[in-house]
Amino acid sequence: MANLPFLPYGRQSVEEDDIAAVAAVLRGDWLTQGPAVAGFERALAARVGAAQAVACANGTAALRLAYAALGIGPGDAVVVPANTFLATASAARHAGAEVAFADVDPDSGLMGVAEAEAAIARAREAGWRVRALAPVHYAGQTAPMDGLAGLARAEGLALVEDACHAVGTVDLSEDGGTPVGAGRPEVAAGSLTVFSFHPVKTIAAGEGGAVTGSDPALMARVRRLCNHGMMREPQAGEGFADPEAALDAEGKANPWYYEMAEPGFNHRLSDIHAALVLSQLGRLDRFIERRARLMALYAERLSPLAPLVRPPALVPWCRPAWHLCAARIDFDAAGRSRSAVMAALRALGVGTQVHYIPVHRQPYWRRRYGDLVLPGAMAHYAHTLSLPLFPAMADGDVDRVAAALERALS
Ligand SMILES: *Cc1c(COP(=O)(O)O)cnc(C)c1O
Repeated sequence: MANLPFLPYGRQSVEEDDIAAVAAVLRGDWLTQGPAVAGFERALAARVGAAQAVACANGTAALRLAYAALGIGPGDAVVVPANTFLATASAARHAGAEVAFADVDPDSGLMGVAEAEAAIARAREAGWRVRALAPVHYAGQTAPMDGLAGLARAEGLALVEDACHAVGTVDLSEDGGTPVGAGRPEVAAGSLTVFSFHPVKTIAAGEGGAVTGSDPALMARVRRLCNHGMMREPQAGEGFADPEAALDAEGKANPWYYEMAEPGFNHRLSDIHAALVLSQLGRLDRFIERRARLMALYAERLSPLAPLVRPPALVPWCRPAWHLCAARIDFDAAGRSRSAVMAALRALGVGTQVHYIPVHRQPYWRRRYGDLVLPGAMAHYAHTLSLPLFPAMADGDVDRVAAALERALS
């Protein structure tokens, strides 16, 4: 195995047409907020079945914009599953809100309705005003959105779907299936979905993210907050920044006029990044297919290692665009620690990663909320190990990983 190239747990697939698309931007007139950003926003919205998409700097910025656009702030709380990346929770805290960590199903790693309800109850006991559910579509599978949207509706909460793992996933809980990103218009308090285009995710911008949604007012606020809170059209409602500057002699908006009703961010995406991710979006279906094929091979090749090793648990309510192959491994029964197994795999040329250390265990959150007891998240964490999964992997690489795992565990 020594001569084979190292297999990372994830890797972008950049091809010549991606490079050409980026080079074309560099030769053109706009390096930021030009036609590539606008084109990507249109293409992404169409792909995920949303009325609008706002492209932004990364997935974390997308979360920050979503929470801010929903008006979430001090005294409020957002329900976040403990099995996620730091950013789902940190972005809520940056908005001034508290985080009500929810437990997850130990097998799928997903937050269900019962777990969300328990987190809401705990938050209310603490005196927080619960404002939103932020389900995470872990590894590419959706959280049970029918139930969670129903809960959001019943409780008057907004929905911020963290779909950083799940661009291209189809939610089958509605008739005919709806792509992740279309949102849940029936959730009156607001429904937004966020994506990341970090290189390890399914399509890459380098750094990039997006918020999708279909409520025009909410999406207008996301767009405004992404760009300093600036508006080009005079709003009149709160008075102009300068009435004379706002309107020209014909009473039309002056092209150089701008006003600000609330402070925003600069979370814009550049055209350089947008060109790459737009080009990648054109290959999303190929990526999804290849990832699905590799996952099917994993299921087959890992089966002789059962029950020590099991492939990810499947949920019936979605057709996943797989981001991670989060295998479940009984390290105790194997008599090997996870770190020892990871080191052995590394020596055999196989990279792995752990998704995730439950966020509520992080020192910042423990200092803030003490030691929460979330047994599902801890059980998921204890057995999870993400195996290599990326489109350029060969079928034979799956055999290589399975063989390496067998050695590392024996
Ligand atoms: C990657 C990721 C983010 C953050 O996205 P960035 O683009 O890295 O800022 C947020 N949530 C989840 C679940 C992620 O996997």
